[in-house]
Amino acid sequence: MPYKIHFIPLGCAKNVVNCEQMMNLCREAGHTLADAPEGADVAVINTCGFLSSASEEAIQHILRMAELKAAGRLKKILVTGCMTQRYGEDVPAEMPEVDGILGTGSYKDIVSAVEDVMAGKHPRYFGDIDAPVDEFGRVLTTPPWYAYLRIAEGCGNWCAFCIIPKLRGKYRSRPMDKVVEEARELAARGVKELIVVAQDITRYGTDWDGEHHLADLLEELCKLDFHWIRLHYLYPDQMDDRLIDVIAREPKILKYLDIPLQHCNDGILKKMNRRGDKAYIEALLDKLRERIPGLVLRTSIITGLPGEGEAEFEELCQFLWDQRLLRAGVFPYSPEEGTPAAKMERVDTEEAERRAELVVDIQSRIMDEWNEEMQGEILEVLCEGFDGQSMSYVGRSWAESPDIDGRIYFTADGEPEAGSFVRVRITGVMDGELTGELVEEENG
Ligand code: SF4
Repeated sequence: MPYKIHFIPLGCAKNVVNCEQMMNLCREAGHTLADAPEGADVAVINTCGFLSSASEEAIQHILRMAELKAAGRLKKILVTGCMTQRYGEDVPAEMPEVDGILGTGSYKDIVSAVEDVMAGKHPRYFGDIDAPVDEFGRVLTTPPWYAYLRIAEGCGNWCAFCIIPKLRGKYRSRPMDKVVEEARELAARGVKELIVVAQDITRYGTDWDGEHHLADLLEELCKLDFHWIRLHYLYPDQMDDRLIDVIAREPKILKYLDIPLQHCNDGILKKMNRRGDKAYIEALLDKLRERIPGLVLRTSIITGLPGEGEAEFEELCQFLWDQRLLRAGVFPYSPEEGTPAAKMERVDTEEAERRAELVVDIQSRIMDEWNEEMQGEILEVLCEGFDGQSMSYVGRSWAESPDIDGRIYFTADGEPEAGSFVRVRITGVMDGELTGELVEEENG
């Protein structure tokens, strides 16, 4: 019997892809995807469990679904993803409203799990998290003009503060022909901006033969009908010259790189099992800027890591001022149970949070300088529609990745279509985001 299923995707882009695959499996099995949980048979919450705070967010969603269930407006609740992989049986034990759980090795079992819960059973599926990556179709939940392409699963870097390898298994690259085939389908569906993701894309292919194959893959992807290709999560120590050349040479690859650095102090990097030291990172950033003109860099930074005293924190701040990385996700260190770093000595959470605020402040001043520099520039912008609140159009340039960076607000005499590429002259700043006016339209 067909059921109505509502999906709630939480967490990162990789998790969004898992959710899209489960949605497709359910649809192919004859079930209907419901836009809202009210009136649905099953709500599936695909959780993130990377940080305790992400688990808390997932719990809030579960409790909201539990209220609907108690009110008779939703029949069953299934919880999938990283949080269930991390906490297993504790999830239904703590929240008895949860009818079934699936770990990160069992997305493929979603249809059976739905049927189980509707039959009054309490499924617990925990498949092998090191198995080859499942190759499924997807329902796209992103706007039609951009989509994520996940090229690998898991992570083998074992940074001391990170729980991901335990939740997502070892690093497994998807076969290149499958990745290219999926990308071709996305291009045929009208996707203009392809966002290549994995926990670490630089290691793509190293699990096959020890060689790096990201550059080969990017060359293939550039042959397809995309306008932009954006890259997320390049671990710094694996960026070889060939990869840098391809990024520099291929016009479709956006000159925007997301390289999570986490810290710059040699002692902390070593303690955290990160490869490469500060001198290496500085040399890499210099090389990237020299070889890729107009490069925008994004990173992530953790404050209050074990080993970070006042001097190390000062060093981090100075490094950020010197490097002027345009964008940074800043996180106060959170000791995650089950990681080596959680057992190490560190400053308390309040101090880590105070330091994070100071780093955010540095980054917003760097952003202000950039916004100033952009005044008068004409940028190619992917129009994403009309924003009723600011009464202007919104879009993104190469420097803004969806959801995590800002947007550009612009006025236009005509009516630029969402999903088309336009040219915008930057004329101002509004709450830290750029504003401008349409110059002329291009065909996307
Ligand atoms: S590279 Fe390090 S921080 Fe990133 S997912 Fe892997 S283990 Fe975690």
